[in-house]
Amino acid sequence: MADGGGDIGKTQELDALIIGAGFGGLYQLHLLRDRLGLNVQVVEKAEGVGGTWWWNRYPGARCDSESHGYAYLFSEALHRGWQWSERYPGHAEIRRYLNYVADELDLKRDIDFGVEVVSADYQGRWIVRTACGRTFSARYLITAVGCLSTANIPDIPGLEDFKGEWHHTGAWPHEGVDFTGKRVGQIGTGSTGIQAAPVIAAEAEHLTVFQRTPNYSVPARNAPLTDEAKAEIKESFEDIRALTHLTPNGHPFEISPTRTDEVSDAERLEEYERRWDKGGLRFRGAFQNLLMSKEANDTAANFLKEKIRGVVKDSATADKLANIDHPYGAKRPPIDTTYFETYNRDNVSLVDVRAHPIQRIAETGIETAEGSHDLDVIVFATGFDAMTGPLLSLNLTGKNGVSLRNAWAAGPRTYLGLQIKDFPNLFTVTGPGSPSVLCNMPVCIEQHVEWIADCIEHLEATGSGAIEPTETAVEEWVAHVNDAANATLLPTVKHSWYLGANVPGKPRVFMPYAGGMVRYRNIAADIAKDGYRGFEIDGEAASGVALPQDIVAAGV
Ligand code: NAP
Repeated sequence: MADGGGDIGKTQELDALIIGAGFGGLYQLHLLRDRLGLNVQVVEKAEGVGGTWWWNRYPGARCDSESHGYAYLFSEALHRGWQWSERYPGHAEIRRYLNYVADELDLKRDIDFGVEVVSADYQGRWIVRTACGRTFSARYLITAVGCLSTANIPDIPGLEDFKGEWHHTGAWPHEGVDFTGKRVGQIGTGSTGIQAAPVIAAEAEHLTVFQRTPNYSVPARNAPLTDEAKAEIKESFEDIRALTHLTPNGHPFEISPTRTDEVSDAERLEEYERRWDKGGLRFRGAFQNLLMSKEANDTAANFLKEKIRGVVKDSATADKLANIDHPYGAKRPPIDTTYFETYNRDNVSLVDVRAHPIQRIAETGIETAEGSHDLDVIVFATGFDAMTGPLLSLNLTGKNGVSLRNAWAAGPRTYLGLQIKDFPNLFTVTGPGSPSVLCNMPVCIEQHVEWIADCIEHLEATGSGAIEPTETAVEEWVAHVNDAANATLLPTVKHSWYLGANVPGKPRVFMPYAGGMVRYRNIAADIAKDGYRGFEIDGEAASGVALPQDIVAAGV
């Protein structure tokens, strides 16, 4: 284990410690060090910058957000100095981009790589310990650990007996995996599995996909950016930035203001066809009520199921793929490059493990209730212990010895997804209860990082010691997060990682804030403007109720 060059046995005193060197940690370092002049250190488990993109190097790993919006938008200079090559950035290009930003802003001198945090205790200051034996003491602790960084490897009996090799997509070997001549089994058909399967199938002797929940997918229609598009993007910094701040999910495209019932059947189909041809997550924006009404959603769901049947030649396979029982978009909607076409290949087969569950992994492969499948490689595209997993793995202990694990035994409780009661001066970038995974990540990350920097600036300017939310504010926020989710179809899917349902024993709580990024940004800004309403600073609560009734009453 690397030690990042620090002193073992000596406590390093800091103003702020940031955990993680992805999009969040890099920008947070820049603001706290270069704008506020604080003594700041970043610690990062990986050996380089990148966050989720350091680890997710599986075949086909590529961002579903369009490249011109999947970037920092706080600096026109950074925007102008970088050129994306494709409509959607691949994992290697995103790492190059983050290295470019880190070098431009001279960030790496304050990042210690190869340093894993194993505990953080609040003792008036945050005392943070690492696996390599280092100790930090900081006034502020900022977690920028991502929402999807703790791998979920299902506890299937017999994995230790398997004689072949196996990998989780979120911890993919940097040297790659050679599938040539191999029989590969892939478990999982979420966004990751849908990206990986076509690439693996093109190389492997045989690919067997083990599908539990069939999924919708819209073609990404990825392509190199033309010179014309590149030039237009370069000149459109203000427009791109403004658009990402105006749309509820932070993407640089608008959601149609039209409802599904305001157009004729033919017009609706025409709109779906247009969006299908354009490709990508823009399909979600076809009508404004797709996630609000089952009837509206069915129109999109039926269109997408028909597309699957139109592509997949074998009708039994098409039936398994199109047998989708959740509303479109209520689970994270994937986009793909020839995913359904992959099932027309002779070397690809689909196993329905909902009908015939996986029973065990044997020396030679995977056994289901229906039979055994001999394999050389197993790919776990089985997702993550999302949102709470990365925070809980830090072993955080707040005031009076309260552990985060105990505090969140019934599910995460935060104020704005930014702070936790009894954990003073701990700030969680894109924590549970914030839009996070329902938003284009760099956009919600920027807003959080800026809010946190402003808050710390306020504390510094007023000579304050510690900030934490009040119990009432947390209660009101948790209730509002639930109301926001319940106004949509999102929580109707019981087997969704948004609810924690993919991890056995995890409390079923809808974790991200579904009220939209625009609304969230306004609420968070108003709270700060009102002297941090709902927070206690050095034991004094700011006046006024945490969430004014007009916010709560307005619904979502
Ligand atoms: P996921 O959406 O949680 O999908 C995991 C898959 O594994 C599901 O099909 C799940 O089935 C299956 N699975 C899990 N345990 C299983 C078991 N014991 N037996 C059989 N099947 C099992 O994970 P993911 O695909 O890695 O995606 C996670 C998130 O990462 C996405 O939703 C997205 O937010 C993000 N992501 C983003 C990009 C990007 O472009 N930017 C790309 C990939 C991923 P069930 O559905 O039945 O649980």
